[in-house]
Amino acid sequence: MQQYHLSNLDCASCALKIEEGLRKMPGVISVNVDFSTASLHLETDTPLDVKSAVRAVDANVGISVEKSAFQGLTLNQTWQRFSPIAISGILLVLGLFSMKYTRVTPYPMVSLGFFVAAYLVSGWKVLRNAWNGVLKGQIFDENFLMSMATLGAFAIGEYAEAVGVMLFFMVGDVLESISVEKSRRSINAVLDAKPRYANLLENGKLSVVQPEDVPVGSTILVKPGEMIPLDGIVIGGDGMIDTAPITGESVPKRVKIEDEVWAGTINQDALLTIRVSHEYANTSIARILELIELASNRKSSTERFITRFAKVYTPIVFGIAALVAILPPLLGYGEISEWLYRAFVILVISCPCALVLSIPLGYFSGIGNASSKGILVKGTVFFDILAKVKTVIFDKTGTLTHGKMQVVEIIPAGGFTKEQVLSIAAGVEQGSQHPLAKSIVRAYKQPLGTRVDELKEIRGMGVVAKVDSSEVLVGNLKLLEKMGIVLKDETVDEDDTAVYVSVEGEYAGRILFSDVLRKETKSALALLRKEGVSRLMILSGDKKQTTQEMAERLEIDEFHAELLPEEKYQWIDSKSNHNEGYTAYIGDGINDGPALARADVGIAMGAFGSDVAIETADVVIMSDDLTKVAEGIRIGKRTRRIVLQNIVFALVVKIGFIVLGVMGIATMWEAVFADVGVALITLLNAMRIMRG
Ligand code: ADP
Ligand code: MG
Repeated sequence: MQQYHLSNLDCASCALKIEEGLRKMPGVISVNVDFSTASLHLETDTPLDVKSAVRAVDANVGISVEKSAFQGLTLNQTWQRFSPIAISGILLVLGLFSMKYTRVTPYPMVSLGFFVAAYLVSGWKVLRNAWNGVLKGQIFDENFLMSMATLGAFAIGEYAEAVGVMLFFMVGDVLESISVEKSRRSINAVLDAKPRYANLLENGKLSVVQPEDVPVGSTILVKPGEMIPLDGIVIGGDGMIDTAPITGESVPKRVKIEDEVWAGTINQDALLTIRVSHEYANTSIARILELIELASNRKSSTERFITRFAKVYTPIVFGIAALVAILPPLLGYGEISEWLYRAFVILVISCPCALVLSIPLGYFSGIGNASSKGILVKGTVFFDILAKVKTVIFDKTGTLTHGKMQVVEIIPAGGFTKEQVLSIAAGVEQGSQHPLAKSIVRAYKQPLGTRVDELKEIRGMGVVAKVDSSEVLVGNLKLLEKMGIVLKDETVDEDDTAVYVSVEGEYAGRILFSDVLRKETKSALALLRKEGVSRLMILSGDKKQTTQEMAERLEIDEFHAELLPEEKYQWIDSKSNHNEGYTAYIGDGINDGPALARADVGIAMGAFGSDVAIETADVVIMSDDLTKVAEGIRIGKRTRRIVLQNIVFALVVKIGFIVLGVMGIATMWEAVFADVGVALITLLNAMRIMRG
């Protein structure tokens, strides 16, 4: 996939035109033009000259294609566009002045000259775009409409008004691009977690290079205060790192030799030497940034609606304007110039700019806001779903409870010692990512010397492996049962979270864990209820007893235990008729990938560093904080609310003006003020989503 930046992309309808035009080109596999970031993502199977392709499909002058993304116009450049407007304004004033005071004959000619000059200075770009559009058969865009209206006004002798309308349209245009630019900037600032350089250490020499150019296995140096540019293992130094750029929360974490560190986090106080473990493109941060940029690919239904709406709205209004201009004079009501004027008022108001500008920007601000809080939303469509979530389903282990469980007891059997049971289990569990497995490895503390072969993880059950050529099982009772192992008159306490170990078909003992709730679990559930979630549920692979206890303690409405990953999937699948609103599934991505993928919205917890979760979930919570789920729902609702406000406001004003225009009450001046005003107000409103 190639990525480009489209500079001067300041109308959302052009973004759409370019996207649709490119899609029809031969060799194009996929294309996405994102207005909010002014970026173009393109996948082709034959080489394509992108610059000329864009020029061929878009009539607008000024849009240019650059390799690389995310680098807006400078605000300075935008302000410079005010100079023709200022000149045009002066010419307009001169025109008005000469109309009033000059007594030269033929005086109208002088002022007309000023008006024409003023008109051309401010409007040449609009006229040219309109003309190019007509040549390409794109007639219902704002350039065409404004040109029609103002040229028409000239034709019926409303010179000053024609100039004024064009002038204000341009003022609005510049103000709009300034505010679009500003909000792009604030969104980009949030996404600015990209490391810019790496200090590469080669043969004792230090050089500053791009993170992309550092091969796996190299050694890099990260000085205090610098951002860690690549994922890797600490081989020198120890100190605190801050994950705030990624998780949204400043939680310093201690790292020492042999610890893993991630690109995008900040080295606070130490001089760290790091051995690089992934190429830049494979680091979590690179994947995350890419996913955020692609988020507009999965458009929300509101965005899709507005896009379709904008396409029919303009022709309809154009039709109304045509009827207003033709019908009444034909039927003998009033002067034709009077009705023409009303038609031009309607044309001026017919631009759907406010909608097509503010809606994608609003959604993208939502993405930006969520990212700044460590919540990665992988498509604006998920805001719509989050806003309507009624059922929230939790995975238990690692989600409601801490990923880090403590081994509290080891109960050996059949002549094994505690140490043997733990060392055998730890040896096997090194190969697993499961929270229980990690706890066992952590509890063992010693270096792992055992030779493990033929390791196989059975999801939702445990691990089977060969240790020193004897078959070892480490997992739950289901696993032992499946492999035909009997617990000899052993009284198993149903209340404990336990992992069972067997060696060569003989039960060897069990390891007990304290499966502690996260400290924020209770408040997180309360917050969800407050956001209008009516049903909370647990789907767990753990035992019925433990799950039930937890459900009761947390006042969870419903629970299902002893489920295999496939069963979780089937369970969610069977519930996916949206009679009772949407369903969110929240898991840690370990053993519940299918469920995450199947839910209306799959939310992965504490996902930083876990690629599987980042890939499969729709919403990824970077930090290990369960309250972020409610926060995500809140952002979803707020985003939707503000977007809907904008839609309603813009439509009410526009329809009101069309009515006033038909009745002959509104002037062209008022129409253009309303048009520009609505666009600016909706933009400012959309920018509110970014804050708060
Ligand atoms: P949950 O749905 O509660 O998160 P999982 O589906 O991840 O549970 O796991 C279900 C059960 O399978 C665990 O409670 C554990 O008993 C067993 N299990 C899964 N993987 C392992 C493993 N690697 N080692 C030991 N036990 C495991
Ligand atoms: Mg789990």
